[in-house]
Amino acid sequence: MRYGRSTVTVLSAAVAVVLLGGGPALAQEAEPNQVQGLSVVQAEGFATVSWIPVEGATDYQIERTPVDASDTPTGASVITGVWLPNRQVHNDRPTFADAGFNPGDRFQWRVRARFAGSAQPFSAPVSGTTMPPWGDPTVPGENLRTQWETTQAAQFTSDVNELAYTAAIDQLNERVRVVEIGRTVLNRPINMFVIGYPTPPATAAGVAATFPLLINCNVHGNEPNDREGCLILARRLAFSSDARVIDLLSHTTVLIVPTINGDGRAANTRGNSTGQDLNRDYSLIRQPETFTFVRMLRDYRPVAGYDGHEFGNSSAGDLPMLPPRHQNVPRSIFDQSQDMIVRHMYEQGAKDGWWPCPYGCANGGNVGLSEETILRNTLGLKNVVNSLLELRSAGGPTRPDEGNPANNRRRKAYSAMWTFNEFLDYHRANLQAIVRARREAVRFQLANRGRIVFRGSRPIPAFPAPHPGESPPPVDAPDPSLILDNPPCAYKLTEEQYNGPRTDGPEGMRTTVAQRLEAHGWKVVKVADGYIVPMTQPERGLIPLLLDAQAVEELVGAERLLPTSNPGSGPLVVSSGVTCLVGRSVRGPVTVLPGATLIAAGTSFGGPVRATGAAGVFLTNSTVRGPVSISTTTGAAVIAATAVNGSVQLSNNRTTGGAILVAGNTVAGALRCNGNTPDPVNIEIANAVTGPRTGQCAGL
Ligand SMILES: [Zn+2]
Repeated sequence: MRYGRSTVTVLSAAVAVVLLGGGPALAQEAEPNQVQGLSVVQAEGFATVSWIPVEGATDYQIERTPVDASDTPTGASVITGVWLPNRQVHNDRPTFADAGFNPGDRFQWRVRARFAGSAQPFSAPVSGTTMPPWGDPTVPGENLRTQWETTQAAQFTSDVNELAYTAAIDQLNERVRVVEIGRTVLNRPINMFVIGYPTPPATAAGVAATFPLLINCNVHGNEPNDREGCLILARRLAFSSDARVIDLLSHTTVLIVPTINGDGRAANTRGNSTGQDLNRDYSLIRQPETFTFVRMLRDYRPVAGYDGHEFGNSSAGDLPMLPPRHQNVPRSIFDQSQDMIVRHMYEQGAKDGWWPCPYGCANGGNVGLSEETILRNTLGLKNVVNSLLELRSAGGPTRPDEGNPANNRRRKAYSAMWTFNEFLDYHRANLQAIVRARREAVRFQLANRGRIVFRGSRPIPAFPAPHPGESPPPVDAPDPSLILDNPPCAYKLTEEQYNGPRTDGPEGMRTTVAQRLEAHGWKVVKVADGYIVPMTQPERGLIPLLLDAQAVEELVGAERLLPTSNPGSGPLVVSSGVTCLVGRSVRGPVTVLPGATLIAAGTSFGGPVRATGAAGVFLTNSTVRGPVSISTTTGAAVIAATAVNGSVQLSNNRTTGGAILVAGNTVAGALRCNGNTPDPVNIEIANAVTGPRTGQCAGL
């Protein structure tokens, strides 16, 4: 990916006068090095202060003074912001998002340059009334306010208040359906706002078809401010008649999980009530909170996500962000996530005055690595374009007026809301690219090609200084002991591994590996002596991280099944067990007999493929000269990214391992499906079919 970089141009005061043509800020003659062209634009919970750069300035101070309606000061002037050159990508157009004030109050702003700490004259002042909290106080619904809002950020919104607020939004509006996706260990509901216009689709599958986006607001209970931003955003999405909101919600569905960790929030602890850090559990899903969340991902299939946190490094940017870096994450997902952060968030941050930067910026330490247990990486492995969002905890040197906790909380909550709004706009403007990246990622994973890395990250390139990003998170190259060059074809679990009792997870709520793989949505084939999990699945990169003994945090050390060593090249009869073909060429017809399993990737078949009563059939990234006919399969089947020169017929399959996946195939013939339980699916990756599509495959 190439990162554009604009040329820095410093306008002199003389040029500025010409450009501005004697606006109000220039009524008096400028003093030497005085900031000119001050402008303040009000937005939701912040004000964008901008000015013309002063040549030679090393930083700027932003001053704010409370004023009354006639602009007479009513309180002391304070320096609320310090602009540093590494704050934004366009140093020639400096901006600062001033925040922390009580929305609706009126202020005056001034800005001055400093030369190596030596203050120059302040600009002429600009006054303005800040934007009040969103929603007409006289209109039902719009007039809802969170506990955090009504107490002017003195209190965080409690679980009781959240539930009442959420229920009111649900009841007063057709656009919002609140779904309880599960319960915490202590039985608190985990709700999700499902928001669409005029109404969200009625089912999870219907929502998935709209390529939804997901905001996870609060996994660490002691990092509460993203959640406050989320709750206010949900109200606006629910009730606003703004053209932008209607347009956004007409084109997709917004999923917002305000509080996955309600127990941790209530106790103000990072972990859940058992002490487990839930953001180290999204792959293992030992806890009911993460288990339920991952099951939701399986059913709603968001294509993009943001995960909200707070970061205790006072020198970092306002908004550290990071894409899924684990090297098993498909390249297209990594690239698109970086595009969202670097091209969109850095650019928009420079426009609005916020300071996104790569997580770890300003020597933030050994953070942002490749644990697949972290949602950022789990989502990437599940083909979701996404980013971590951190809100810098303390005001730090660039926001010196945050000793007052309410000021600090408001800056954080409204900067989170800014990010989530930008995320909505990015998704709206780039949906085709996001969907393309997802499709490419799924195809890559289905092919089961390339090495497996158990732990190790892609590097995050530095963005040229002095812009944000000159100090990205550390290189996290995989250790050779954590690389597997030749991926297995599948993993085989014993009965004990698959269905045996577990000791991880809270007592009374423990789940088996079978239940967890089902929550992930993986296809499993029951065979005579165990259970097979083929690698040719959409979440291939995550499979060995949970099932291989070489992994760092596996669930079980299952047996690796390697490609079949000598399958022959003539007509093939798979009569029992598992035959695995990788990159083979098979001349004759292929027959899979009852109870047998065929897994084929990157293989070319010179004749038809026929399976009757098979345990499993997996055809990916292959070509078939002749029809494909699969009936009465008992375990699982995947026909994907395969070119079939003939028709495809799926009939009377009763697959215990989940719906048959029929996705991204090119079929020169008909696609006929009937009598299958469950109905076949394409996870929003259409097939190209020249003949008719009939029965259960009519929409695939
Ligand atoms: Zn966190």
